[in-house]
Amino acid sequence: MADILSLDIQYIKGVGPMRARVLQKELGIATLGDLLYTFPYKYIDRSRIHHVVELTEDLPYVQLRGQILDFEQAGVGTKKHIKAFFSDGTGVIELVWFKGLKFVENTYKVNQPYIVFGKPQRYGRRFSMAHPEIEKADEADAHPTPLQPFYTMTDGMRRASFSSKTLQKIIRNAFEILGDQLNETLPAYLLERHQLKGLQESLFNVHFPTDSMALPEARRRLKFEELFYLQLDILSQSTQRKSDSKGFVFGQVGCAFNDFFYHHLPFPLTDAQKRVIKEVRKDMRSGKQMNRLLQGDVGSGKTVVALMCCLLAIDNGFQACLMAPTEILAEQHFATLRRMLEGMDLNVALLTGSVKGKTRKNILQQLKEGEIQLLVGTHALIEPTVVFQNLGFVVIDEQHRFGVKQRAKLWEKNLQPPHILVMTATPIPRTLAMTVYGDLDVSVIDQLPPGRKPIRTIHYDERDIGKLYEGMRVELRTGRQVYVVYPLIEESERSDLLALETGYARLCEVFPDFSVGKVHGKMKPQEKDEAMQRFINKETQILVSTTVIEVGVNVPNASVMVIEEADRFGLAQLHQLRGRVGRGADQSFCLLVTHKNNLSETTRRRLGVMCETTDGFVIAEEDMKLRGPGDIEGTAQSGLPFKLRIANLVGDTILMSEAREAASKVLKQDMARNLPQNAVIWHQLGQLKNGVIDYSAIS
Ligand code: ADP
Ligand code: MG
Repeated sequence: MADILSLDIQYIKGVGPMRARVLQKELGIATLGDLLYTFPYKYIDRSRIHHVVELTEDLPYVQLRGQILDFEQAGVGTKKHIKAFFSDGTGVIELVWFKGLKFVENTYKVNQPYIVFGKPQRYGRRFSMAHPEIEKADEADAHPTPLQPFYTMTDGMRRASFSSKTLQKIIRNAFEILGDQLNETLPAYLLERHQLKGLQESLFNVHFPTDSMALPEARRRLKFEELFYLQLDILSQSTQRKSDSKGFVFGQVGCAFNDFFYHHLPFPLTDAQKRVIKEVRKDMRSGKQMNRLLQGDVGSGKTVVALMCCLLAIDNGFQACLMAPTEILAEQHFATLRRMLEGMDLNVALLTGSVKGKTRKNILQQLKEGEIQLLVGTHALIEPTVVFQNLGFVVIDEQHRFGVKQRAKLWEKNLQPPHILVMTATPIPRTLAMTVYGDLDVSVIDQLPPGRKPIRTIHYDERDIGKLYEGMRVELRTGRQVYVVYPLIEESERSDLLALETGYARLCEVFPDFSVGKVHGKMKPQEKDEAMQRFINKETQILVSTTVIEVGVNVPNASVMVIEEADRFGLAQLHQLRGRVGRGADQSFCLLVTHKNNLSETTRRRLGVMCETTDGFVIAEEDMKLRGPGDIEGTAQSGLPFKLRIANLVGDTILMSEAREAASKVLKQDMARNLPQNAVIWHQLGQLKNGVIDYSAIS
């Protein structure tokens, strides 16, 4: 049966050497198996035939049944096109072609019954359809496709006059060759337990869904299989790794930790913080190397958790380091940690790109000799010149700014890899995190320190800007500070910077009694730092900036975050920005400003979500719903051992958990991989791993 799946597509009816080359080049489809696993990206309901009189502009694709009354050639040279007047008895629309004119002339005839399918658009009084799909009515009647699948088409394929329909026909022929020779790839007991349809049936139904029930069932089965093997692979690797990689054992809780906990900790820890510290301690004692992701919303108090874990390492005779993505952040961490550790006999140092000359030399020397116990810095820490005497624990803040490779470099700073704690405020659903980061364990701080008032978020239309200024003034008068953030994207950089400058000038005018500073990406790093520093020192009360402040800056005295052109920011970004205020016990505000008269439905929803909730997890979920998996999906996919062809990491989280549980059970019950009922599983996994099954990669 492996033979049938690896059959060269050129031998399938309707393909031949020419088309085989196109399919291979454009979509990487080389074999019959590739073809079967090339899934439609959408389906359109074709059970309904519309009438010309009922057409409106907001209709999506529709089909009409009627005849061509007449053709007309128009335009010259590259503008040349063909029009056909198509009537169904209730009215007339124009069909228009700009390409493939020869084909149109030779194929379509007047006064023949056709079904045409396309998106109607109004031009003047009449509707028109560009490049419609046309089928002879009697043929369409013979092969009804209530749900028509659509396959990815590339320009190259269109040039070779491939259509989604052609591909579907070829796939139909492939199924004819296949017959019932396809072997099941999941054991019967799993199919039964998870109520899944067979492979053959599911594959067929995904290409030729006969009714609206068969399709979701087929898709569920195929997705489950993908996710199951994905999880099986990830889980078996992490089990392997955990048994392989030894970790330093931090057996004791010593004086640094205890002294800090009992005498220096400025506030009681939240239960969530305590729980995470416990989880880390358990890892550090286990004898295995820790790789842990710490997720906690902005302001949830990750820093102190990181610090206490560093103290554990120090108590056991190891050095620790904390790496931040920017100099400002590294400096802030350094200042915070020093303040918290005041009065304790610990040697903490800061190393960034701007620490130079003698100071730098000294730090490197002391680090090597083990005198520095805790080093805070930027990626300057991963340079080869930075040598630790005995690095045992690494904290990485705001992980999404660091690549996996950079992380790996830190591992090599000791003979045996140090324990690693990666901290992020970007909430990712748990299953997704475990899948993307493979063998990272996940801890969550799901609780804010007590006494925090939820930030009040208000949406202002430009017309209400006066009210907004009033609000700002009230806060400024009580000694508070205000951020005003402008969007900046490369494509519209000039006009964006202009908007920022204009806004800056206007604020200077409106608030002559306060001083206004600005920071943006086009300033020199030193200028930026100085402007930030002035704000931190309260020399400026209002800071106008682009999103350079997005990550981690901590100015607890700032209580207002104004976000200009809020409609241009994504939800996740808005949430990150808002997290820059509300870091103390007082009421803080986030003011979203928009300047457009008619905001789109999604934008309204987005701003609405911001005004309704401050819960990062709720926002992350809404974000995915509104935006689709997008970014996360992209980065996530690139780290996977196999490419997902039908399942979706973000959209299919429930099925993913189900698949993960199933995979975990199989691994536990069949460690030796020799239970007869699982033979098909291990065989299939082996095939996938060896790339024997490589249903190519469309990307
Ligand atoms: P983030 O998780 O965003 O990095 P931080 O660690 O910067 O958050 O903490 C935000 C603020 O909350 C800091 O000012 C910190 O001192 C304070 N904080 C942290 N934990 C607690 C706690 N348990 N009780 C009160 N305040 C806390
Ligand atoms: Mg932080």
